[in-house]
Amino acid sequence: MRAVKTKLWTVDKNVHIHKKYPQIKEASLLITKNEVVAFPTETVYGLGANAYSDEAVGKIFEAKGRPSDNPLIVHIANESQLQELVNEIPEVAKKLMDAFWPGPLTLVFQKGEGIARQVTAGLATVAVRMPDHAIALSLINESGVPLAAPSANVSGKPSPTLAAHVYEDLCGKIAGIVDGGPTGIGVESTVLDCTTEIPTILRPGGVTKEQLEEVVGIVAVDPALVDDGQAPKSPGLKYKHYAPQAKLILVEGDKLFLQQQVQIAKQSGKKVGVLTTKENASEYDADIVLPCGSKNDLATVAQHLYEVLRKFDEYEIDVIYSETFPEQGVGKAIMNRLNKAAGGNVIKC
Ligand code: AMP
Ligand code: MG
Repeated sequence: MRAVKTKLWTVDKNVHIHKKYPQIKEASLLITKNEVVAFPTETVYGLGANAYSDEAVGKIFEAKGRPSDNPLIVHIANESQLQELVNEIPEVAKKLMDAFWPGPLTLVFQKGEGIARQVTAGLATVAVRMPDHAIALSLINESGVPLAAPSANVSGKPSPTLAAHVYEDLCGKIAGIVDGGPTGIGVESTVLDCTTEIPTILRPGGVTKEQLEEVVGIVAVDPALVDDGQAPKSPGLKYKHYAPQAKLILVEGDKLFLQQQVQIAKQSGKKVGVLTTKENASEYDADIVLPCGSKNDLATVAQHLYEVLRKFDEYEIDVIYSETFPEQGVGKAIMNRLNKAAGGNVIKC
């Protein structure tokens, strides 16, 4: 793989999307030269490239080591960019765009012409979203093209919620990183297929099923999200993802049961970590106990989840036992990511 000098820009997250900023100009110039640049969004950091350029999009897959059958989400700054990317905009999608864009909702459409082949990984559909982040919108505007942008991490690792995470994974592999501080939501967008009769959630994320149903009535869920035996309609979901280096085990049971698992692992000579919440942290005795947000506010758990998973890597832990969370609201997205990161390792009381 070619070595690239990675340029870093620090930009205030509250930029005006129609004003000019030299750092964003410089980043967009690299995009127009078919380079890839990481930028903050309201979910996680994205790794952006011109969605119409095969050469540019190829560099995303190369830098991330992303499997070529895993399509990318295209990020737009205005609805006229959408017209060029898709064949038609169903009524249900129009309602959802009015309600949730800009925001953490990705909609899957029948694809139009001209999109780089690798963006859709050979599918007849394309996934599109408008991010709710001034730097992201400003960079797309300045570049003048939609940006294909997956999360800006090496494939398989937890997604980046800080520019430092992107630097750790991709320094020397990408042309630049726009540092706009910590991202807000912390888990990726909800992916919703609008090509089916009933809109179908392919990946849970920042917008919940309940919120979608308030706008469009019944929303289905891809059966693969509840049954491991089924092939997911969103190709990315078949891969192990979001994983720290240590083995992650989810524990369905109370604190006492989790602490017993810790003791057993310690007795066999393992270095053990616990992923918990700030309220429960003092109740565990392990080599490292990391609190992730508050159990009374799952949005804070989502916000810190990837940062905490990455932090465990600093302690050379052998095994991490994690509490589980109620699968309501954003809890669905949290448990989806934890299950992927654990690769199916769950212990039940
Ligand atoms: P990432 O950008 O890394 O957050 O991943 C994007 C997710 O969207 C992956 O799970 C992809 O498989 C999914 N995705 C992208 N395009 C499509 C599409 N056309 N149909 C279904 N899923 C898609
Ligand atoms: Mg990703």
